[in-house]
Amino acid sequence: MKILIVEDEIRLSDVLKKNLETEYFIVDVANDGEIGAKMALEHDYDLIVLDQMLPKKTGMEVCKIVRQAGKTLPIIILSVKSETTTKVELLNAGADDYLIKPFSFEELIARIRALMRRPKAIQEEIYTIDDLILDTKRQTVKRGDKDIYLTRKEFMLLEYLLKNRDIVLSRAMIMEHVWDMYADPFSNTIESHILSLRKKIDLPNKQKLIQTVPGRGYKLSFV
Ligand code: CA
Repeated sequence: MKILIVEDEIRLSDVLKKNLETEYFIVDVANDGEIGAKMALEHDYDLIVLDQMLPKKTGMEVCKIVRQAGKTLPIIILSVKSETTTKVELLNAGADDYLIKPFSFEELIARIRALMRRPKAIQEEIYTIDDLILDTKRQTVKRGDKDIYLTRKEFMLLEYLLKNRDIVLSRAMIMEHVWDMYADPFSNTIESHILSLRKKIDLPNKQKLIQTVPGRGYKLSFV
């Protein structure tokens, strides 16, 4: 799951990014409304956390731009109490939820999880293929009755592969969805993570799940 944070208070955006990353999200940050709107349109995020009071464009303006472009991803607006913009105006502009600053991280994460569940069935918190089970809420992976311990990145990679099972995913797609914008597209980081993930889930006595499609990428399938 990839989140865009648009927030001009650098200290806050840093803390949010760090905390969300420990919750297994991939996070990009924009520090003004104009860059935020541009990134929201160019990339494929799963959710936006959008501050209302921003340089160049307000959160509400960014929200309208994103909706006018036909993007339906959930948007949470961060607002301050003293502001004149009302909750109704924010919701009318296309926001799905809003939080008054200061807020606790626990509250933000609860809202994010609620919004991410909304459009799809709750059952999608658990993904399975063959006898592999990935639970996004508990952040656990099992193959058969064996617990598998993955690093944060391996977990996010596996989650992305599972969400797109039987679909060939190019390096560029994996880079876009599992790494943040600062990742080096020319490094062998994807290959090395695929390799380590394979070692952990494609056990010798089990059906091979991660397939390499020569010249195209990878796919998770049960053949
Ligand atoms: Ca602000």
